[in-house]
This record gives sequence, C-alpha cells and structure tokens, in this order.
Amino acid sequence: VTQEAEEVEEAETAPAAASTASAKHEKDFYPYILIGAGTASFAAMEAIREKDSSAAILIIGNEDIGPYMRPPLSKEMWFNKSEETTENLSFKDWQGKERNIVLQGKEKIDALNQEDLEKIESAESGVKLLTGVTVSDLNVAEQSITLNNGKVLKYGKVLLATGGVPKTLLVLKGAGADKVSTFRSVEDFKHLHSLVKSSDKKIVVVGGGFLGSELAVAISHYGKDKNVKVTQIFPEDGNMGLVFPRYLSKWTTSQVEQEGVVVKANSRVASTKTVNEGKQVELTLENGEKVVADHVVVAVGIEANVELAKKAGLELDEIRGGVAVNAELQARHNVYCAGDMTSFHDVTLGRRRVEHYDNAILGGRVAGQNMASDKLHKTYKHQSMFWSDLGPHIGYEAVGILDSKLSTVSIWTKKPTVAEGDKEATDAPSDAATAERATATPLPAEAVKVEDKEKYNKGLVLYLKDKKIVGLLMWNNFGKVEDARKILGQVYDTEKVEALVKPFGIHEE
Ligand code: FAD
Ligand code: NAD
Repeated sequence: VTQEAEEVEEAETAPAAASTASAKHEKDFYPYILIGAGTASFAAMEAIREKDSSAAILIIGNEDIGPYMRPPLSKEMWFNKSEETTENLSFKDWQGKERNIVLQGKEKIDALNQEDLEKIESAESGVKLLTGVTVSDLNVAEQSITLNNGKVLKYGKVLLATGGVPKTLLVLKGAGADKVSTFRSVEDFKHLHSLVKSSDKKIVVVGGGFLGSELAVAISHYGKDKNVKVTQIFPEDGNMGLVFPRYLSKWTTSQVEQEGVVVKANSRVASTKTVNEGKQVELTLENGEKVVADHVVVAVGIEANVELAKKAGLELDEIRGGVAVNAELQARHNVYCAGDMTSFHDVTLGRRRVEHYDNAILGGRVAGQNMASDKLHKTYKHQSMFWSDLGPHIGYEAVGILDSKLSTVSIWTKKPTVAEGDKEATDAPSDAATAERATATPLPAEAVKVEDKEKYNKGLVLYLKDKKIVGLLMWNNFGKVEDARKILGQVYDTEKVEALVKPFGIHEE
C-alpha cells in the first residue's frame, strides 16, 4: 500500500478533540505541542495541518534555529564550490539544484521568543516556533510541560521528538575538551568546518559507522587543496562493518582510502594526551601506534534522547534505547513519539528503533495524523528508507534491517550469478545454508580484489533472518526503494531468486 493510498483511505476522519473549543481560549494552552524542533516534529506539524487546517501548533526546540536537514552536514556541505554557499547553509543536491538545509514546506512558521510567548492570551490558528528553549518536564497526568525558565504550558496532544545525543569515549578525556568534538548539529558543522578551513590540519575521525565514514570522506575531499590529512580509527574490519557484509565493508574501505583517508581498521584508542604545548593531541592505539592530531571528531553512535521521557515515567526500551510506543506511535494517552528517540512496534519486522531521516519524516507524519484525529489509529507500517554516499563510486539506498551479523545474499552486475554473502560474518547457520544453496559462484571474502574498481559497481544485498528477507541494500542502484518495500518480510526462496531480483535490473548492463 503506498502512502498516498493510505492517506485516501483515511481522509474521512474528523479532526481530534485537541483543537475543539473546550480549552481553546485558556491562556498557556496549546492544542498541539511538539517537543524538539527537528525533522520528526516538522513532518508531524505538516501532517497535523493537513488534517486540521486551523490547528494551533507550538514547536519548541533548544537549538538556535528551526527544523533543518542534518544529512547534508556530513555530505553535500563539504562539496560546495563556494564558501558563500556554505555560509548560507546551502548546498547542491545530487541533481545540481541549490537548496538550503532549513526545512521549508507549505506552512508559514512564526518565530517566537520567550517574551512573545508571555503576550499570547490564547493560542490562535497557526504554527509557532520557539527556539533556544529546553522543555525540562512533562506531566502526563496534568497534560502539561515545563520550560527551562519554569513556565508551564498545557497541551491537548504532545509529540516527543527529541532525537539523539552523540556518545563519546572516556579515553578521549585526556585530549582536552577543545580538541575533541562530537558532530550532530549545524553548530558542530560550523565549528569543524572553520577548523578545517586553515591549511595543514590533521583530523582524526573516531568511528567507522554512517557518520564517521561520511565525515572522513567529506573532510578529506574538502581539505585536499589545503593539505588537510584525515585518519579514521575504528574497531571493525572495515568501514560500515556493523552494516555491510565483510567483503563489501572491505571494498568500502578501499574506496574511502582512495579519497585520501588513512584508515586504521581493527583499532581502538587506548590513551590520549596533549602534546606540542597543548596545541595537538596524541592518540595511542591499542597496538601501540601513535597518531597526532589537531582535532578529533568522535562518531561512535548516539543514545536516544529520553531524558524528558524518563523523568515523565514513560516506558523505555531497555534493549534498543528510546521510548517504547505502539504501532500507532503512542506512548501514553495524548502522548506520541517519532524519530530517532522512538522504539516502535513495526508490524512487519518487529520492535525497532531507527536512526534515519526518512523514518523521522514518515514516523513524524503518522504521529501527526494520529494526533490530529482521535478516530484514525493509523499504523506506522510504511517502511522508511535510508541512503548514503561515500566518495564518487559508492552511493546506496536501503530499507529494513541491515546488520552484518545476519546472513546475506548478494547479486552484482559484473557477475551474472547470485554471489554468496560473507559467511564469516554470519551467526545464523540455517540462513547461511540457504544462502549457500543459492550460490552459483561463491564469492569468499578473501577472493575480493579491492583494486578491481568495477567489481562492486551495481548490486543488491538481501539480509535474511529466519529465512525471511528483513533488509535490502541497493548499491549504486537508485529509484528501487518501492520495489524493495514489496519484498521486505517475504520468505526467501532460492528457486525464485532470479524473479525476485528482476525489478532491480542488476543484469541489464
Ligand atoms: P533531531 O533531528 O535530532 O531533532 C531533535 C531536536 O530536539 C534537536 O534539535 C534537539 O536539540 C531537540 N531537543 C531535544 N531535547 C529537547 C528538549 N527537552 N527541549 C527542546 N528541544 C529538545 N539519515 C539518513 O537517513 N540519511 C543521511 O544521509 C543522514 N545523514 C546524517 C548526517 C548527520 C550529520 C547526522 C547527525 C544525522 C544524519 N542522518 C541521516 C540521521 C537523521 O538526520 C536523523 O535520523 C534525524 O535527524 C532524526 O530526526 P529527529 O527529529 O528524530 O531528531
Ligand atoms: P553508528 O551507530 O552508525 O556507528 C557507530 C560506530 O561507532 C561503529 O561503527 C564503530 O565504528 C564506532 N565505535 C563504537 N565504539 C567505538 C570505539 N570504542 N572506538 C572507535 N569506534 C567505536 O553511529 P554514527 O556513525 O556515530 O552516526 C551517528 C548518528 O547519525 C546515527 O544515528 C546515524 O544513523 C546517523 N547518521 C546517518 C547517516 C545516514 O543514514 N546516511 C549519516 C550520518 C549519520
């Protein structure tokens, strides 16, 4: 079912009581309060207004600017041709169109400051945005929130979309606070960008996941003319080692290296100290090797930001992190969650927490629709996608669960056969056996010659769990997300694999 079809199905439902007259004229009451001015709140706001065109919505965020896209901060923004474009927070998208990272939609958003807030007698129709303000408490019984200045606001419905907080490593403490930073916000981007602007900088990126890999490539590209050197350090065998099968992770590393990054895989930082009169940091790795840097960027994952939810007594997911919500993204009566901080029940793949942009958009929309209509009870079942670019030869889109511990089956253009996933990375013997039977020409990890540039030109990787296809990775193969969604959750059948992958056009070139 496409999202559009779902919308039509549900178009008849009436707006929620949240916007009805009962409390409308009460001071400091807002029918809809969205906490966290990020992607998920933005999407929820748009969805609420689509269903309830006169809704009064208050978005509260603690960054200095309103909702913006984070994805370009570790990609496109470092590839801008002019510094002016970057200063304006603009970037060129993959189609060459110049855009700004600040999210813009149909709705007019009025910026408020705390004084304006005091002057408002009763919430009027429209979208208001309060920036630079932290919500410090949520009282579910009273249907109220408290701002960091002590002000209390009442809500009809509330959305928690507080995102995630970057983790850091204790071992980096010795490096001095100004030499180490995490990377999440536009402020973090500005800070790192200004550091790399000057010549001859040595930057260390710690972490080999989505962010560490994208940033290492981006900084290296940006700093090429300025003799900036980037070293990336992480414990896995290759970049994206927790996500891609082992052979593909190794291939990815070879491509990251081609972008000028010195990659130290299978490495951890053992200790740090400042050197050169405090101007630089020296990192000692577990194997004794020393790396000197002007600055260290830590990209070792995030923790779901549940501070507020925890204080409010909402149910937390102890395994995945995040607030536990049902398939309708509801945590408690009139309390909804969306985006990175949400552990939701996925009716196809089971309980999950997803840390990607499209999930924030789609989840935010479903939460908003449910908030705006008491009768809707919409299930969040539209599978979100994610994507990344790593240098000129790697771009991918994906749906579902991509975990390198799962058994995988890969199909590549250059080999007109079904190739085996990486067995060493498999912890599910029955799945491995399935994959092996499907293998016309096995492709063991050792056989991968990374110097063969064409090898992983275009392909598809299927991730299997209990014989079910739980994830699909479309490698340099764009526009196939809808086809992938259709296959997700199906039982993997070796006999039918050719028909299954036909829509992906792998063998057409
Ligand atoms: P956020 O966007 O983090 O928004 C939450 C907001 O809430 C923040 O502004 C936070 O400051 C605020 N907040 C928190 N607590 C409070 C409080 N108590 N009071 C007020 N405000 C509060 N995903 C992809 O799919 N593809 C990509 O290419 C990609 N690239 C990325 C690049 C970078 C550099 C980063 C950091 C992430 C990237 N992601 C990407 C992930 C994607 O950006 C996130 O999944 C998405 O931003 C999540 O949206 P969100 O609304 O849940 O949280
Ligand atoms: P991640 O979860 O993708 O990667 C975590 C990485 O931390 C691991 O791959 C590992 O290499 C590293 N790590 C863990 N312990 C370590 C240690 N002791 N020493 C060195 N490295 C260690 O998280 P991330 O890459 O930090 O990304 C941050 C957030 O931003 C995530 O939510 C991510 O999904 C999101 N993001 C997504 C995209 C995208 O979808 N294209 C791009 C950038 C960021």
